[in-house]
Amino acid sequence: MTCIFCEIVKKNIPSQIVYETDQVLAFKDIAPVAPVHIVVIPKKHLKSVMEFDPEEGMLTVLLMRAIREIASAQQLPENGFRVVTNVGSHGGQSVHHVHFHILGGRPMTWPPG
Ligand code: 5GP
Ligand code: ZN
Repeated sequence: MTCIFCEIVKKNIPSQIVYETDQVLAFKDIAPVAPVHIVVIPKKHLKSVMEFDPEEGMLTVLLMRAIREIASAQQLPENGFRVVTNVGSHGGQSVHHVHFHILGGRPMTWPPG
């Protein structure tokens, strides 16, 4: 089955890329739910955080570095922001290629729905 995010990595589907390295890609969400809504993914297809085995240790660090750098570039740290990863059906995951949402630019509510 075709993975939308793998297609975005291959540039077969256009996206508004805000960050790219050998292993990590980040792009604007197509249906933003906040003034800043960026999706951060590993280029490698992993289904969810449940597949971050110890051998993915460096990839995990690189994803967190991307989140930090993107948040700073978007001027989010001063007021704060949210990082979310949805897992499976109860988690509300609709794309089964692990991703972290960076949400910012407005106050977030808690708990999420
Ligand atoms: P999930 O619901 O799996 O946590 O998040 C998937 C996210 O991917 C959603 O926020 C959705 O709007 C976004 N998305 C789905 N398809 C595309 C696409 O083709 N391009 C972009 N930029 N975002 C997408
Ligand atoms: Zn994929």
